[in-house]
Amino acid sequence: MSKKKIIIAAIILIVSIVLALATAIYRSQKAFRCDYDGTRIIPIYEVDIMLKEGKFMRFCSIYCARAWFQGNASRVDAVLVTDEITGEKLDADIAFFVESDVVTVKATQNRIHVFKDKTHALSHARQYNGKLVDNPFKLANARIQRYPQ
Ligand SMILES: [Zn+2]
Repeated sequence: MSKKKIIIAAIILIVSIVLALATAIYRSQKAFRCDYDGTRIIPIYEVDIMLKEGKFMRFCSIYCARAWFQGNASRVDAVLVTDEITGEKLDADIAFFVESDVVTVKATQNRIHVFKDKTHALSHARQYNGKLVDNPFKLANARIQRYPQ
């Protein structure tokens, strides 16, 4: 093989590697965008909604998930929210929600925060002028009653 052919082969190889990488990066970024408004999802604030038809949708914030949920509640099987202290995913039925002055996702101006522990929820509320709010994702078939009357 001549030098020229080797160089051409090398260029083709490099170009195809770069293309493959670019495609992989593009796909992975696309996978982590909000299904409601396309905002990039920050894992600590992610909300996942499982549908009865077996699919699941992911959202960047409580606001987006709630906006989508309001028109589609009958299709929803379960809502998973993220404890913003540990990053742990938990059922919305057992999470604590606090509305405070702190914005989680700038694009949506979401101010509802999710906590697994009531102590964390209350201390966030105390620090940032917040209050406990109801689970925004009330399912008709809710298994657990969150706030005893
Ligand atoms: Zn969103």
